[in-house]
Amino acid sequence: MRTRFAPSPTGLLHVGGLRTALYAWLIAKQSKDHFLLRIEDTDQARSIPGATENILRTLDWVGIPPDEGVILREGVATQTGDKGPYIQSERLELYKKYADELIASGNAYPCFCTEERLKNMRDEQMKRKQAPMYDRHCLSLSPDDIEQRLKAKEKHVIRMKMPHGNVIKFTDDIRGPIEFQAHLVDDQVLVKSDGFPTYHLAHVVDDHFMEIGLVIRGEEWLSSLPKHLVLFAALGWAAPRYAHLPLLLNKDRSKLSKRQNDVSAESYKDKGYLPEAMINFLAMLGWNPGTTQELFTTEELLEAFTLERVQKAGAVFDLEKLDWLQGQWIRKLSLSDLSERIRPIVAEKYAAAENDKEFEKKIALIQERVTLLPEAADMLSFFYEEPVIDTAMILSAKQGVEAANVTMIIKALVDTLDGLSEKKWNDAAIKDALEGAMATHDLKRGQILWPLRAILTGKPFSPGAYEVAAALGKEETLARLQKASAAF
Ligand code: GLU
Repeated sequence: MRTRFAPSPTGLLHVGGLRTALYAWLIAKQSKDHFLLRIEDTDQARSIPGATENILRTLDWVGIPPDEGVILREGVATQTGDKGPYIQSERLELYKKYADELIASGNAYPCFCTEERLKNMRDEQMKRKQAPMYDRHCLSLSPDDIEQRLKAKEKHVIRMKMPHGNVIKFTDDIRGPIEFQAHLVDDQVLVKSDGFPTYHLAHVVDDHFMEIGLVIRGEEWLSSLPKHLVLFAALGWAAPRYAHLPLLLNKDRSKLSKRQNDVSAESYKDKGYLPEAMINFLAMLGWNPGTTQELFTTEELLEAFTLERVQKAGAVFDLEKLDWLQGQWIRKLSLSDLSERIRPIVAEKYAAAENDKEFEKKIALIQERVTLLPEAADMLSFFYEEPVIDTAMILSAKQGVEAANVTMIIKALVDTLDGLSEKKWNDAAIKDALEGAMATHDLKRGQILWPLRAILTGKPFSPGAYEVAAALGKEETLARLQKASAAF
């Protein structure tokens, strides 16, 4: 089952597009076949340089690169496969050939109507509360008239001729059987006045020659399906199977919008989401496994995914769910894997992290707490730069740390920890020693732990005092305590 993803290079890849790509990738891989990427750039005015690379990089990031078509090689978009070219602007001859064939067989006709005439026609139709639709004015032109106007190079488009009277029946892989009345479907423009084909003609030709078995695309194309089925039939080709995916919705169930959500897939990478979490999240946007399992690796998705379990109703883009999945995935990664993903982000801010041999130990302290990868830099800052001594934060009436006893407490901390040998400098030994100090000096747990943690990290929230002291090392811990003591 060859499938394809066919984005238009008009901007950053949309999260809905990435879901479409994922489903198409899963179906192709399940049948050990190719997943193609085709670039649909027939709307030249809207094409943006670099958009293709962005799309490919995003697919790479989540681990679903195309096997055929436009691919990324050493960061550069190139083409591979024997059914190319895979960029529509390089296939114009082919579209022209089939547009001519459709005219010759009476399934398409030139239309010379001006913008102004079309606008008046639509206004009239709206006034009569009719759906705007081409009135077939040019269908009744005589062959001579057409020939003359074409010779005179009069501006025109090519329209398809819907077979009025026919009922077009089809079974969509997600929506089941559907019927369309041909006379209610517009005579779609197939070739624009600039000679470029529209999506409708181009993708039919391409899906045929690229031997696509199943077209997976967004629900917004469902209403155009009868046009595409008619084109396949008129060209004498078998239509592929189709699966139209449910819309993505904002929480208030309106159509997913930029105003309420970030819709560029890359923005989630930039924010520090894991590709594992993103894939898991996108997979469940409209699909469910029919069990209570919520965490899926790509391999598990390959096992479990079926189009039968994709819903028809819109799928809510729930960022809380994404954050939850992200948390689950962060905890699931091995410490060394997580460390190596976080290291470059922290090293950007603190160069010392680059070659820090103790980096994993530090990550171990935050693996339970971190959600987005870039948060780690701030969470670990106190390891790489001495915190500012905040005397107000070190004091805590609630914990029983007051101006009157703070110097005594810090001295007890210094004396106790100084007594521990470097060799014994670990969480458990530090904990033992400090519990001893609590008993000896008649101090409560908070009276020891709060100031120790606050002094070492300079933060109101952080991993626990024992772990931080252990990871910082004896020398640094004592130096920070002594410096704090001098501040009171
Ligand atoms: N170029 C179309 C789009 O960007 C592709 C639709 C399809 O997959 O057929 O939405």
